[in-house]
Amino acid sequence: MNFKVTLLPGDGIGPEVVNAAVSVMKVAAEKFNVAFKFNEQLVGGCSYDKHGVPLTDEVLSSCYDSDAVLLGAVGGYKWETLPQNLKPEAALLKLRKALGLYANIRPAKVYSALLSASTLKPEVLNGTDIIILRELTGDVYFGEPRGFDENHGWNTMVYTREEVERIAEYGFELARKRGKKITSVDKANVLDCSQFWRKIVHEVHKDFPDVELKDMYVDNAAMQIVRDPKQFDVILTQNLFGDILSDIAAMITGSLGMLPSASLGKNYALYEPVHGSAPDIAGQGKANPLATISSVAMMFNLSFQMSKAAELIEAAIEKTLTMGYRTADIYSPDTILVSTTQMTEAVIENFNHIYDEQALGVFTL
Ligand code: NAD
Repeated sequence: MNFKVTLLPGDGIGPEVVNAAVSVMKVAAEKFNVAFKFNEQLVGGCSYDKHGVPLTDEVLSSCYDSDAVLLGAVGGYKWETLPQNLKPEAALLKLRKALGLYANIRPAKVYSALLSASTLKPEVLNGTDIIILRELTGDVYFGEPRGFDENHGWNTMVYTREEVERIAEYGFELARKRGKKITSVDKANVLDCSQFWRKIVHEVHKDFPDVELKDMYVDNAAMQIVRDPKQFDVILTQNLFGDILSDIAAMITGSLGMLPSASLGKNYALYEPVHGSAPDIAGQGKANPLATISSVAMMFNLSFQMSKAAELIEAAIEKTLTMGYRTADIYSPDTILVSTTQMTEAVIENFNHIYDEQALGVFTL
């Protein structure tokens, strides 16, 4: 089996974490008898420096022609004063829109070895396994009109029926395969657009009576995620609220460097860590590659139907953490401080080890 993957390392630590994830992909490809054809392209600030725009048509064509896209991160101090449409981050919005990536899946799972890396109490966190399902192509990020003048600034929060229906359907299907519980997060007490969201979510729910639906206002959800995260299974939410809640959920895992994501549309899929380009640590070998490696596990599962390979990657991450390896963002004095490369090598070694054990029949493949 051959798969085409467009690599968009981007800026800051993006290239470091994408390199790490690609090494894991290559090892997994060898073990599972698949071949990857990688097409590496510029996106974000580095694309602006070379082409004067953060995303070129050539990059989009490569994405259209791929089975999956792996993105690192974009942005940095250097490009902060550019006009909005030329900023590196504009490439992300354009990519999401052009590829029709309407469903953003962000798991926030607690690794038991990392219970102490979070600022939250271990007993609050233990056993937490949430998926934040964020709608990605609507809301204030894309609504028109938008702009500002000397005395006003404005954006438009807007959703169409079709946009809410398709993400709600995806959410209920997802919850059905997990804990059968969905919490729809909105701000229906204040926003008309959120009232509409809630109405449509309830209409869609009629087709999924086996899934429990609860509504929650976003301010309460922000509080509940840190108060009692175990109460959640799937959190379904609007674009803006999902952006914020998923960073709150990062504190469950201890670091943004641990959170993977998948953005799916009808025909295309893009995988990326939740974190940004972390310019403060770029080029220093300090970046935690696990969010990107875990994003690759999601890619194997969702785009290549290679669930065993995905499980092995996750198991290798878990084992590496249990052995005490930590990049600086999750380090504590009783653990072993490693660089991006050392962490990646440890994951690969554990991947090979677990694979060999399974191939020997210790577990079933
Ligand atoms: P950030 O996620 O880049 O960094 C926040 C903090 O987390 C920093 O202290 C950073 O060092 C740390 N961090 C992030 N990822 C890490 C990792 N893998 N390993 C270790 N530590 C990590 O967010 P920011 O500082 O607000 O933004 C920096 C730039 O990234 C900005 O230009 C922003 O617009 C951009 N950004 C891009 C994306 C994306 O490409 N998807 C997402 C968010 C922010």
